[in-house]
Amino acid sequence: MDSEKMLERMAGFVVHTMHQIPQLGLLPVDELQGIPLGRLRRDATRLHAVCRYQKGVRKSEISGPSDVRCVDVHPAALTDDWQRYATFLLYHEFLHALGFAGHDKTFRNLEALWPDEEARNMGKSFSNYLRKRSSKWLWTCPQCSKEHPRTRRGMGRFRCRECRAVLIDVKAEANGPKG
Ligand SMILES: [Zn+2]
Ligand SMILES: [Zn+2]
Repeated sequence: MDSEKMLERMAGFVVHTMHQIPQLGLLPVDELQGIPLGRLRRDATRLHAVCRYQKGVRKSEISGPSDVRCVDVHPAALTDDWQRYATFLLYHEFLHALGFAGHDKTFRNLEALWPDEEARNMGKSFSNYLRKRSSKWLWTCPQCSKEHPRTRRGMGRFRCRECRAVLIDVKAEANGPKG
């Protein structure tokens, strides 16, 4: 399935699920279907997804989905492995689209209503996955073998938190086809 179709389907599923969350009952959930969906740059590392507002709209003035220009999701999340996380990301961005602009307590409470608890907690693993994808070096503990993917060499300046052993630089395997 191409990622555009996948996104559309996910959005349909998210809206459907949101209709079943009583706390969202008074909000214009149906209008979310009209938001254009897109993808972040393939090499984005910090951002997992984003809700972009129309030009000139301030975060404090968002009244609903019509103030949203698009929602973009990281393309690496649009794979079988990360599908559930991508679905949760859409839910997160759709909450922003409904006018909950910041990550305040209200937002976090609404976010926690997403029924897939495991997906809600996949953010850290996805960050690690992205980092590993783009890393050139693995700072490796010679005692416990724990690896810390990094873009630069550690040059023997860092120690394993558990073993206190000096981490050694191991070249990360190239991602994707070589040559
Ligand atoms: Zn957010
Ligand atoms: Zn160690």
